[in-house]
Amino acid sequence: MTTKRAFVLGHPVSHSRSPMLHGHWLALHAIDGSYETKDVAPDAVSDFISGMRAEGWAGGNVTIPHKLAVMRYCDRIDDAAQQLGAVNTLWFEDGQLVGGNTDWIGLVGNLDEQAPGWDDDARNAVILGAGGAARAAIYGMLKRGLSVQVVNRTVEKARELAGHFGSQVSAHGTDETEVLLADADLLINTTSLGMKGQPPLEIDLSGLKEGAVVYDVIYVPLETALLKQAAAKGHRTVDGLGMLLHQAVDGFEHWFGVRPEVTPELRQLIIDDLVAKGQAG
Ligand code: NAP
Repeated sequence: MTTKRAFVLGHPVSHSRSPMLHGHWLALHAIDGSYETKDVAPDAVSDFISGMRAEGWAGGNVTIPHKLAVMRYCDRIDDAAQQLGAVNTLWFEDGQLVGGNTDWIGLVGNLDEQAPGWDDDARNAVILGAGGAARAAIYGMLKRGLSVQVVNRTVEKARELAGHFGSQVSAHGTDETEVLLADADLLINTTSLGMKGQPPLEIDLSGLKEGAVVYDVIYVPLETALLKQAAAKGHRTVDGLGMLLHQAVDGFEHWFGVRPEVTPELRQLIIDDLVAKGQAG
């Protein structure tokens, strides 16, 4: 049997935690396989992708700055990657190279795990931010049948997303946040505010709907000031680490043929690494 190989393609890519995640699952399932970092400059991406079959790659992850560039070399792009405008996972299917995006699966899978039943009777999700993570959040919320209110400092970017995703998505400036929170079943922060080294997210949750779940996609620190404030008010909270873990599941299954599980041990492995690198906040 030949060794199955997968990669994370980026430039730079040494900071990626994906090798740790996939390495853990490879060892756990005793799979004859590898997951390798590939630092490839933008002008060499075309050659790398066209050489994938010959080099024996089963597929891989794609990270900054190649998430858009690889799209033109795929035979097929899945619906999520089309809607999100970025590919983060490549695999072969019936001989075709498929480009997909699993960030929304990570975002929703994490919610399902950490706040089970969150979407029972949920109607409205308020999403702070209008960047890449916001796109994944909007796509996931629409898939689960919620309406979405996007709040962003640059309201024009929120309008672009509302225009792109359709009538269930509306755009708002930050001055509207408190009014929107009164009817929110879910609040998701997808801005970089509150991340270690970034300015704080200033938000008053006193008017947030009772029972609302509060989710921060940031995981450095694990418990952000937003989550602390929400927990103190009795809301269920969800941190961003699980999003990173859950987004990796589908790729692993595509490349190695086993569907891995996100376990407390895996979560602890990454937390230990964050602590060791002084990034735990
Ligand atoms: P992005 O595309 O650069 O978007 C950043 C967003 O933050 C924009 O909406 C931006 O608003 C807002 N923002 C930044 N600085 C701000 C400030 N000073 N005041 C108000 N708003 C500000 O970034 P992204 O890729 O979406 O990532 C956003 C965060 O999500 C990062 O912290 C990232 O680490 C995290 N993330 C986590 C995961 C995970 O697996 N847990 C996955 C992806 C991303 P403007 O439009 O007004 O600039």
